[in-house]
Amino acid sequence: MGDESYPECRAQELFDEFVSSSTCRAALGSFSQLCEHLQLDRSGGGGERPLYRAIKHRLNYWRANALWAKLDRRAAQQEYQKARVCNNITCVIIGAGPCGLRAAVELSFMGARVVLLEKRDSFSRNNVLHLWPYTIHDLRGLGAKKFYGKFCAGSIDHISIRQLQLVLLKVALLLGVEVHVNVEFKNLVEPPEDQQRHKVGWRMAVKPKSHPVNQLEFDVIIGADGRRNTLPGFRRKEFRGKLAIAITANFKNRNTTAEAKVEEISGVASIFNQRFFQELRQETGIDLENIVYYKDDTHYFVMTAKKQSLLEKGVIIQDFADTALLLSRGNVDQNALQMYAREAADFSTNHQLPSLDFAMNHYGQPDVAMFDFTCMYASENAALVRQRRGHQLLVTLVGDSLLEPFWPMGTGIARGFLAALDSCWMVLSWSQGGAPLDVLAQRESVYRLLPQTTPENLQKNFSLFTVDPTTRYLNINRLLVTPAQVHSFSQSNKLL
Ligand code: FAD
Repeated sequence: MGDESYPECRAQELFDEFVSSSTCRAALGSFSQLCEHLQLDRSGGGGERPLYRAIKHRLNYWRANALWAKLDRRAAQQEYQKARVCNNITCVIIGAGPCGLRAAVELSFMGARVVLLEKRDSFSRNNVLHLWPYTIHDLRGLGAKKFYGKFCAGSIDHISIRQLQLVLLKVALLLGVEVHVNVEFKNLVEPPEDQQRHKVGWRMAVKPKSHPVNQLEFDVIIGADGRRNTLPGFRRKEFRGKLAIAITANFKNRNTTAEAKVEEISGVASIFNQRFFQELRQETGIDLENIVYYKDDTHYFVMTAKKQSLLEKGVIIQDFADTALLLSRGNVDQNALQMYAREAADFSTNHQLPSLDFAMNHYGQPDVAMFDFTCMYASENAALVRQRRGHQLLVTLVGDSLLEPFWPMGTGIARGFLAALDSCWMVLSWSQGGAPLDVLAQRESVYRLLPQTTPENLQKNFSLFTVDPTTRYLNINRLLVTPAQVHSFSQSNKLL
């Protein structure tokens, strides 16, 4: 006997599976199954945008409805013009890190066709990101708590990188972003010479070479592939500070009562606590400039260590002036590094964490790592326009590709999301037919604010934040950089 409610129950089952999936692959798999079951057309950019509206018609029960209410509220922002403001635009995003995903979400709300490439198919970073109040508000508004019940409960203001990616991936899929994993962006392909016969615009080369996105034509490309940005044409500024060696360590969190009682250490508090650092040095020989501890899926520590103490404790084997050599694989004793991180974690939590067993990283190794922050990079310009054979392409960077954060300060995601929204605002102006130099000049004006942005100099009413920068920044002057400056100042703005 057939049960008439079966298709509906199955849809709910698949939706629940999707919502609670805990890996990138599982989220993609269950979402495909759900769309297939609901017979939704997702091929080649076809179908309704944002996609969740089509799903919503077919999936009407409490769990889904709670999420639709959130997404409907966001989709109603007037800047999106009911997902029509950018529906003439195809946008490629390189990288499914948090910033690429956040940009993808915003562009989908604006009605753009969004194609996102990610060279990997897993989210594996245990490390934890500090969230500013506006980012928490932003993510709640996108339904983060529906996907990840523990999201910023109580006074928690952080999330592991992989959980954040997972939340944003699910939102992006529901909005209709076309996500291609195991696809690596290689380079841009100019429109072909013979435009009489082939009216073909800007494309790209990806690995694998046989992938259909090699044929895709697009109007905008966003580099969100982390600090090693692959898009050409962006000159990088280097900020060379004094030697800064950061250590990150993740220990297993077994969620026991004893672990729950241990207090977190926020970066700001610790920087000023000189006595703590003196005692740490006297008792253990560990010399730190700062330390942060967040209790998340793991017990996560990030600390900046002084070179001399790393040498004395045998973590760094031989002293070199060149930091690349100093921190090269062969010059670091991994066991000593583990001991150093464990001892620092133990001391700074007042020996209250019952066991300090390392969580495993992507490679199945204890998750402890050392990074050099002596040189930090920022792109000189945030965007450029390429024009070839009658085809224009808007090219822009977001996230770590644009401005590299110093992790112990926890500024990465907040500034990363701001820049993602700023870039989407530029795409909006572009799609409305804004003159290229005006669009670029406005983007550069807003970019000038980014390195100085703190929670204090943002607008205070987060519920008014939209893709429009004036709703988010205090003291914004969108005409700070003139079109003439953009033209001459950046050779990369190739208006050929
Ligand atoms: P990322 O998160 O770096 O994402 C870039 C994405 O692009 C990746 O998924 C990558 O696989 C993909 N990609 C790269 N090249 C290509 C290509 N050619 N084609 C397709 N896809 C590509 N910040 C902190 O505040 N604290 C930390 O402890 C911390 N630890 C980190 C540990 C590691 C190993 C890394 C890489 C970063 C860490 N960060 C940390 C930085 C933090 O993750 C970023 O600030 C944040 O994730 C926002 O970055 P993003 O989205 O710009 O780029």
